[in-house]
Amino acid sequence: MTRFSEQQLFIGGQYVNATSGKTFATHNPATGELLCQVQLASLEDLDRAVEAAREGFKVWSRMTGTERSRILMRAVALLRERNDELAELEVLDTGKPIQEASVVDIASGADCIEYFAGLAPTIRGSHVDLNNAFGYTRREPLGVCAGIGAWNYPIQIACWKAAMALACGNSLIYKPASLTPLTAFKLAEIFTEAGLPDGVYNVITGGSEIGRGMSLHEGIEKISLTGSTATGKKVMADAATTLKHVSMELGGKSPLIVFEDAHLENAVSAAMMANFYTQGEICTNGTRVFVHESIKDAFVERLLERTAKLVIGDPMDPNTQVGSLISQSHMESVLSYIRKGVEEGAQLVCGGEQAQVAGMPEGAFVAPTVFINCHDEMTICREEIFGPVMSVLSFSDEEEVVRRANDTEYALAAGVFTRDLSRAHRVIAELEAGTCWINNYNLTPIELPIGGFKQSGIGHENGPEAINHYTRLKSVYVELGDVDCPYA
Ligand code: NAD
Repeated sequence: MTRFSEQQLFIGGQYVNATSGKTFATHNPATGELLCQVQLASLEDLDRAVEAAREGFKVWSRMTGTERSRILMRAVALLRERNDELAELEVLDTGKPIQEASVVDIASGADCIEYFAGLAPTIRGSHVDLNNAFGYTRREPLGVCAGIGAWNYPIQIACWKAAMALACGNSLIYKPASLTPLTAFKLAEIFTEAGLPDGVYNVITGGSEIGRGMSLHEGIEKISLTGSTATGKKVMADAATTLKHVSMELGGKSPLIVFEDAHLENAVSAAMMANFYTQGEICTNGTRVFVHESIKDAFVERLLERTAKLVIGDPMDPNTQVGSLISQSHMESVLSYIRKGVEEGAQLVCGGEQAQVAGMPEGAFVAPTVFINCHDEMTICREEIFGPVMSVLSFSDEEEVVRRANDTEYALAAGVFTRDLSRAHRVIAELEAGTCWINNYNLTPIELPIGGFKQSGIGHENGPEAINHYTRLKSVYVELGDVDCPYA
């Protein structure tokens, strides 16, 4: 007996059976409950989705930006109307606290679609005067785009990718992560109800095999991945075979730097948000917390007082602040990093173990964990753990902390806490990170582009710049005189 009936694929504006004849299970990680079986897409289903997306593109790309905007805005209203039921489904599939999902995940997805729906009518080329001729540019959609998502923010990632792709007039084939496939389908239902033409937003399922099929497919113009750096490298190599456009939102090991003049309580709040929100399963998390040596003790004391008060529990309980990790195997990976931290000499000052939640013996709960006296070369300070594990490091001067903060192959995000504005901007300018905060952390308003440098990503999501990543620019020369020809 499963909670929901078998999940089909969504292709060409309707639910259809996968041709593979295979299914996979999706579970509630907090309880182990089997939520439902999900049909597994085959490469043949991918071909069908590409065909449907091509048909959808013909209709959608010929609409004006204003017409597209109107439909997307209806989807925004439906998303907001259904916030609570969507949040509950997301909590069942991810194990994250309802306290978060009910105010962040769906809201952020809706905000993004609203923002790009607003931009859709403004997408335009330019005019160039050339004396006896003129030129103009056309900003055109790319065609069929593909999105591949991670499991930590499933509906938000689906909404973000759809918002950018669709506002620009593209169609999209979206593949959610296999651990959290359910809400991407609810988005498909909402788009259909809002009047989106068939084939403009399609959802297929599966893991790396179908993901590879998308990266290699000749009928797909662009691939946008949210996932790990290791997967990003594979997707980019596969996409190179057809010279597809790529956008990559990948992993990180981001620094959060707290100078001696920082507002201590705010800095502690930010460090906690940057490590324990969504059980630490956030790409931009500031997992290397560099604290100036003169305030380290005061910082750690306050951090431990407040961390001890975090409520770990049933994700559906509105009081819960720390839910379940995504799976047992991910929990094992997080716990093995914690063991490595201890072995390599970091001082464990809180958490460090699996947490037991009453009535949920099969949950993957890990107590919020803090290590102090960490060093840059420790594994916990170099590798992405993607769990509630904070490493506190101390530093003595600005040049030193900038150098150490930048000493990583990642460069997704960074934060600086100081009351000295000159220093804040000076340090931010030196930090190798695509997304930065001064005196806060992890806020991602849709108006600001988000993206990583180095091995954390390519391209941007959100902000007006994203339009360039989902359109191509055509140049047109228009002759007003005769053809000037040297041939007799
Ligand atoms: P993952 O890389 O294992 O999987 C991501 C997606 O890629 C999944 O849908 C998966 O099925 C697919 N995939 C796997 N192998 C593939 C292949 N060879 N070809 C094509 N697709 C393939 O990542 P995950 O475990 O789902 O998510 C966690 C990672 O995502 C972390 O590293 C995190 O930092 C990153 N992340 C980044 C952002 C961001 O915006 N930068 C946001 C969320 C998560």
